[in-house]
Amino acid sequence: MRITMIGSGYVGLVSGACFSDFGHDVVCVDKDASKIEALEAGRMPIYEPGLEQLVATNVAAGRLTFTTDLKSAVAGADAVFIAVGTPSRRGDGHADLTYVFDATREIAEAVTGPAVVVTKSTVPVGTGDKVEAILREVRPEVDVQVVSNPEFLREGAAIGDFKRPDRIVIGTDNERARGVMRAIYRPLYLNESPILFTGRRTSELIKYAANAFLATKITFINEIADLCEAVGANVQDVSRGIGLDNRIGKKFLHAGPGYGGSCFPKDTLALLKTGEDYEAPLRIVEAVVQVNDSRKRAMGRKVIRALAGDTNAAAREETRGKTVAVLGLTFKPNTDDMRDAPSIAIIQTLQDAGITVRAHDPEGMEAARRVMPGIDYRTDAYDAAAGADAVVIVTEWDTYRALDLKRLKAAMSGDVMVDLRNVYPPADAEAAGFRYSSIGRVAPK
Ligand code: NAD
Repeated sequence: MRITMIGSGYVGLVSGACFSDFGHDVVCVDKDASKIEALEAGRMPIYEPGLEQLVATNVAAGRLTFTTDLKSAVAGADAVFIAVGTPSRRGDGHADLTYVFDATREIAEAVTGPAVVVTKSTVPVGTGDKVEAILREVRPEVDVQVVSNPEFLREGAAIGDFKRPDRIVIGTDNERARGVMRAIYRPLYLNESPILFTGRRTSELIKYAANAFLATKITFINEIADLCEAVGANVQDVSRGIGLDNRIGKKFLHAGPGYGGSCFPKDTLALLKTGEDYEAPLRIVEAVVQVNDSRKRAMGRKVIRALAGDTNAAAREETRGKTVAVLGLTFKPNTDDMRDAPSIAIIQTLQDAGITVRAHDPEGMEAARRVMPGIDYRTDAYDAAAGADAVVIVTEWDTYRALDLKRLKAAMSGDVMVDLRNVYPPADAEAAGFRYSSIGRVAPK
């Protein structure tokens, strides 16, 4: 199969590299010349474990190439995947489809057919119909089918997720297009990854329903964690206690500072907008969005309260001028992606309260500097903690799971640790001399 991937970001590059690894002939296109230059020189424009090796192997085998020239890449392709960004539109939260439609117009000019055009980007219900209308209008004579094939990979584990997906969803009613998609994914089908064929609109909706459900699960356990703190219960035990029930499942029941990242925040908003447009409001998702939004700043206030050691306003005022070391900035470990990371709102809340923030992240500091120029970036956790009044774990990178707590404490001038990912057993942190707080866990009385 000859595959063209339009957009070589987190999804396009991983998908393109994996398809080439299946044996297909893949061209990854991006209009950002610096990304293509980097890729041609063997440098990855993003951090994703295993990607550099996968790309190098398939480039060497002659199955994977990169270009900024969409026209030549699309001509003669059996399948053209659209994997461009679909961020939130300013103002109303609807998915901004500018990149998708611009790419479609460029594809329409270049496509020779017969071909399938596949939306891998997360797009609202009905987008496939619009993509098809553009193609028909510009090139009525060419045989092209439009297919929806949403992507479910997780950053940080993207290659494994792509190669061993829980399911592959393909939305089309066209038999020829189904055949092409089946051929593309055949290696996974042989591995027994189920392929679910649906209508195009259903497939588009599956992606949003999945993300909204996962965001709901996280938000649910976060609120239960708050209740645990109020009643003296332990949220990790509650998670285990409910997660072992197969109807509920263990995943996505880790209480924390609220979800972030490049998908959940924008996809939940876009789903709400679709619900509104079709007069089918999604009240549960509405509540999830609100609760999660307010949670991030609430986490900043939790740090301030811990620093004050007291709940009264005067004590909180005395935290002005203190220094907090933030460990972990990306929205989750093993990525450099800073889009909508909870750290941004937490740090903003601390800075608004007159607190000085310094930070460390193993892979995200370059991206973080672009969104948060006003913080002091340090070389490692101990360097960040040196002379600080408090340390806050925001992202559970492995490197923060095995800190020498005594050394960390000794480097600080204060003794507060706020662990927003429940990485440490409270007794361990307390034994190292910390005044320790975490999420939804209070010491047994
Ligand atoms: P990204 O911003 O990392 O990558 C998009 C790329 O497309 C950019 O490099 C951009 O330069 C390029 N681009 C835009 N218009 C183009 C055009 N006309 N021609 C060529 N290149 C063009 O975005 P991403 O994180 O890879 O997300 C892409 C889509 O996949 C989104 O719809 C997202 O919701 C969805 N998705 C993302 C993830 C994830 O974990 N990141 C997971 C599942 C689905």
